[in-house]
Amino acid sequence: MKKNIVITGGLGYIGTELCKLYSGVSWNNKITVIDNRFVSERVNQIRNWNMEFIQGDILDKELINKYCKEADVVHHLAGITDVPRTKSESNNERDNKIKIVAEEGTQNILDAISNKCKIIFPSTHVVYEGLEEIKNEISENEETKPILSYSSSKALNEKQLKNSGKNYIILRLGSVYGYSTDTARIDIMPNLFSKITSQDGTIKLFAGGRQIKSLVPLIDVARCFKEMEESKNISSEIFNLTKDNITVKDVADICKKHNPKVILKETNDEVPNLGFSLSNKKILGTGFKFLYNLDQSIQEMILKWSKQNLIKDLEHVRDGDNEYIDSRGKISNHELTEPINLIGLIDSKKGTIRANHYHPQQEQKCLFTKGQIIEIFQDILNPNAPKVTQVVNEGQLSIIKPNVAHTMVFTKDTTFLNLVRGEREHDNYGITHTIKHVFVDEKERDLLISNYKFECRSCDSINLKRVVSLGYQPLANNLLNKKEEKCDLYPLEMNYCPECHNCQLSVAVDPKKMFSNYLYTSSTSSSFRNHFIEATKNYIKELKLKPKKSYIIDIGSNDGVALKPFKDLGFNKILGVEPAKNLAKLANKNKIKTFNGFLENKNLKNIKKNADLILASNVFAHSDKLKEMTGCMLKLLSKKGTIIIEVQYLLNTLKDLTFDNIYHEHYNYWSLTSLINFFKQFDTTIFKAEKINTHGGSIRIYIKKGKKIKPESNVRILLKEEENFGIKKFKTYQEFGEKINELKGNVIKNLNKLKEKNKKIIGFGAPAKATTALNFFGISNQIDFIIEDNKLKHNKFIPGVKIPIKDKRNAKDKNSLILVLAWNFYKDIKKNNSNLGKNFINIKDLEN
Ligand SMILES: [Zn+2]
Repeated sequence: MKKNIVITGGLGYIGTELCKLYSGVSWNNKITVIDNRFVSERVNQIRNWNMEFIQGDILDKELINKYCKEADVVHHLAGITDVPRTKSESNNERDNKIKIVAEEGTQNILDAISNKCKIIFPSTHVVYEGLEEIKNEISENEETKPILSYSSSKALNEKQLKNSGKNYIILRLGSVYGYSTDTARIDIMPNLFSKITSQDGTIKLFAGGRQIKSLVPLIDVARCFKEMEESKNISSEIFNLTKDNITVKDVADICKKHNPKVILKETNDEVPNLGFSLSNKKILGTGFKFLYNLDQSIQEMILKWSKQNLIKDLEHVRDGDNEYIDSRGKISNHELTEPINLIGLIDSKKGTIRANHYHPQQEQKCLFTKGQIIEIFQDILNPNAPKVTQVVNEGQLSIIKPNVAHTMVFTKDTTFLNLVRGEREHDNYGITHTIKHVFVDEKERDLLISNYKFECRSCDSINLKRVVSLGYQPLANNLLNKKEEKCDLYPLEMNYCPECHNCQLSVAVDPKKMFSNYLYTSSTSSSFRNHFIEATKNYIKELKLKPKKSYIIDIGSNDGVALKPFKDLGFNKILGVEPAKNLAKLANKNKIKTFNGFLENKNLKNIKKNADLILASNVFAHSDKLKEMTGCMLKLLSKKGTIIIEVQYLLNTLKDLTFDNIYHEHYNYWSLTSLINFFKQFDTTIFKAEKINTHGGSIRIYIKKGKKIKPESNVRILLKEEENFGIKKFKTYQEFGEKINELKGNVIKNLNKLKEKNKKIIGFGAPAKATTALNFFGISNQIDFIIEDNKLKHNKFIPGVKIPIKDKRNAKDKNSLILVLAWNFYKDIKKNNSNLGKNFINIKDLEN
């Protein structure tokens, strides 16, 4: 049966929740909401729920008559709620107004409604505030003892209803608490305490908070009103509607439990009235059940009002939560932080581009149901912000902050839902929704599509997470011959694989572009030469290698620096494998036999097999096709042979914040944990691991074929150390990323200060790490030029920032500031170049 239901005071604290409950059945009933306020968004919502909204006052007899005379049910919630709580707050004028609204308003309704109509009315437990003794479990029959205007007017209303001859239900409510979209109602004690707690404040407990309070959850109150309306056999009754009888101190303790930062301050004064409690036996006897409780309501209010750990990322990609999987398929859920009023369904073909815009106000939220994209984005509020890329796969939600320019490159045929708050008008770009900002063109699209890495190089997982983005950068070692020379820029970003814990770059630049002609010759460095001489002695002893008998291969052999010590000790079965033509030529000239090429399947036939020892120093970081390379190494290795790998150690990079280790040549960043996960896939065992000093901290591991060898204890110890450091926790990597960005701000600030004081700033050293750092920091004009010992680099330019590299003779002015970019050689550089002046500073010292 269709009912005619009137809700007075429908915009109020209880009315708001009651309307929400009725929205479920409003299509089946005639529902009229009357309130003397007009709250735009609420009124709009009520209309959209198919309810009538009338702005009007219950004192308007004619209006009340018009809407109530046909009513089947009236929820009479209207009344003044901003009432004096103590005698001192009271005055005659206010008290009078409260009384008139209560008495006349209620009478107007009683006069208007028919005898069939049910009127449901909220009274209050405060009608017992005048009881002189402490009394608990007060029943509905106890005589009321009001004092202040609020309870007096409620007691008066109760009498009016009882004497009206109409079908009434009176609910004597405890203090109603809980979160509402209407108002915070901080005049209610649990709400006030939750608010104070959410702001880390101080709760004052008068008389130690010993006073007892009768409380009831807001949503249960609204539910009870609706159940009373639906119930056919309850008429002309009074019910106490309270749930918790609890001291003020207990409420404060719940708050403290949810936020230990709140301070509870007890005072020891006397309380005039220790309170009273109402029995709820009668309402429970009707079958009504409470579904909410104080603890969870307080928790909700604190959470909603406190400064939350909001996600600060410019772009945030996430999988659905609370997955439910059964034989039919999968359900996953995405929670949003703001309402959505428009959903665009967007199909896009593989290889196309969309967006190239930003939103001045709202977040862009896209839920990908099919396909895959590379998303490119950049903060436009901070001019020096890097351009970042991110893969989004199907099933994921991507959220981009306002004022972040973004572009989608579709790498598969893709469907996504664009979840919009606000209007979306194509003809009206810019007012609130979208402003054009083209920053990815077709050339860049092609570059991204052909170089992007979607799967983990080690374990094939597609769940790679961003650690840090150093922006689009040129290839670090490809110096420019002319300032105007063009060079390609590629994203330089480190990702973390949560499955195997390998860190790696988001793109893979063609190795031929980087390694075919290599300017870096290992043998120039005496410390390197000594490192390999020492290593050779150890290996011969440990692995019992024999001159003339043992066969040794070095992968990525550079100019032969690691094989030369073997040759010097009479080993003649040695072979280098080196992709750089110039280096292989140099090694062969020096009588170290070297195959020129990458270690890949197609080259295997040209390399002699059955090696007793295969060395791979600083190549494991440099390989995009790890599995193929490792497979080749194992094919070249004899059954009992040993592989020894040296590679830069991720733990050092993370600890020392040496982000400038990150450049396009280094595809991978290894820990022992990730190396073990990688080698697990092959029939091999890492049986020894040690830390070594090269390249600012490296790791050396020993591998044999088969799984039966028992690893030495150093493997277990180092694994434990990595675990304790947090190598398996994404948070460790996120913190690294945050620190790198912080450090960038410091360097720019400090360098600008130095520039104000010094006329000329000259850089010293142009290693690959300088290219990374200068491009990341966005430093170009601050440094006049760079001087360098390596003659091959003279008269070239650092790619990207285009700073010229010159011979030392150009640094004549002893008053210039020398900024050492090759920071790992700072001491040597300062010592060996005293003729350039005394004004040296290490770029690392600008980071704090
Ligand atoms: Zn992986």
